[in-house]
Amino acid sequence: MEKEGAIERFRRAIRIRTDWPENVRGDNPSAEALEAAEGPLRAFQDFLDKAYPCFSRVAERRVLSPYSLVYRWPGGASSEDSGGKEGQKTADAPEPEGVLILAHYDVVPVEADKWSTDPFGAEVKEGFMYGRGTQDMKGSLIAVMEAAEELVIRGFRPRQDIWFAFGGDEERSGLQGARNTAAWFAGSGRSQGCGQGRRFSWVLDEGSSVTINQIRGISTPLALFGIEEKGFLSLELAVDQKPGHSSRPPRVQAAVLLARALLRISRRPFPARLSPVVAALFSLLAGVRSRERGGALRPRAVAFRTRLLNILAPLAAPILTFTFRRDPQFLALLHTTVAMTQLEGSAADNVMPSRVRAVINLRLLAPWTVDDAINYITWAVGDERVKLRILGSAFPPVPACPEHGRMAGPGWDTMTKAAAAVFPDAIPLPFIMTAATDSRHYRDLAGGIFRFSPMRLSPADMSSVHGHDERISLENFFLAIRFYTALFELL
Ligand SMILES: [Zn+2]
Repeated sequence: MEKEGAIERFRRAIRIRTDWPENVRGDNPSAEALEAAEGPLRAFQDFLDKAYPCFSRVAERRVLSPYSLVYRWPGGASSEDSGGKEGQKTADAPEPEGVLILAHYDVVPVEADKWSTDPFGAEVKEGFMYGRGTQDMKGSLIAVMEAAEELVIRGFRPRQDIWFAFGGDEERSGLQGARNTAAWFAGSGRSQGCGQGRRFSWVLDEGSSVTINQIRGISTPLALFGIEEKGFLSLELAVDQKPGHSSRPPRVQAAVLLARALLRISRRPFPARLSPVVAALFSLLAGVRSRERGGALRPRAVAFRTRLLNILAPLAAPILTFTFRRDPQFLALLHTTVAMTQLEGSAADNVMPSRVRAVINLRLLAPWTVDDAINYITWAVGDERVKLRILGSAFPPVPACPEHGRMAGPGWDTMTKAAAAVFPDAIPLPFIMTAATDSRHYRDLAGGIFRFSPMRLSPADMSSVHGHDERISLENFFLAIRFYTALFELL
């Protein structure tokens, strides 16, 4: 691969401003403003078409909207000796057809004055490329395209169909992009006439990465595959009262009722739950730790420990909660979390508010549903004067494919083989994705979903995502290209 050319194409991708402008962020943007905002999304789609001419020649390309671009890279071998080999066939599901790689080309907005470089300048210095989207996630998307282009040039043809679905509004829940693309897939399968759509053996989206020094006490690099995803729910809590002059406050103030409600929520955390995925993760981490201390990573000991943890889960969950009480990263794997994110009263210091409101953001751990979580919060608050309302879109958790929890099943071997080729020192582990990804819209279309960004990231590397001075090391960019190359070669 010609490295300078790849870097140049990556820079061009960053320079297309696919952040969503402020004048279209409200509820009813004007048609002109919307069209102007969609321009760069279309420009990005066209850019891919021209920047990767060899891939574009062999792949079928469909633009469903400015928010959705789909490619089908046709497989070459017959279905008997390739497609669906790893896929799980069930009686009522249509036969899986190929695999699906997801990415998004929109980026979150920037506060340009807080950056030390131009956020859309794609400046390269000291081995890093700076710019909004370098990590989340144009870097991965461009790496996918670079790998595909290079393989096509080499004359490679996959055995099974590889589909790419790129979204233009992931950072705004994917409601026009991924959701519509998934609906399109569901209705466009070859067995459409029977009311069944297309299914994929497995889906790969952005997610956790190869982490270095992110888990306390463990220095071995860990390839964390997000096989389960937490749900998302924002709730507004509001208390109304008669507005008036603050020199004559009522005996019971709305702010006090709201504060009491928040306090009650904080005192009644969601119960801890040790899911099979987390049980496997903890067992493996214990194995990795003992290996670092001179022992061996014995698969049978890990399997035994996982079984034991699963049996003792109701007891182990609170013990682990106590053990990791100072570690938000682990607590998030054991609980539905509640973050108190917004608080609002009146606009002036001497005016009684007619309404006080707070917003809490929940990340739902399976099997909590949106309704169950609302019932739980209603019970925790225990005060009818506090009104609850869902804010924006809520999503239930996406549980893991059970076989993935046992580190097997559709795509597991392929994925870990590709990772081992590029990150030979990293140990693959099942993980729970605590943030939301576009892949949740595809939950009904896949035998399993992986959320994995093939890069080596330290906690410092992670902190620039959605922040100022977002950057990616060129080393990571090329690791990602190598990973997708290795992965496609296995398909
Ligand atoms: Zn992203």
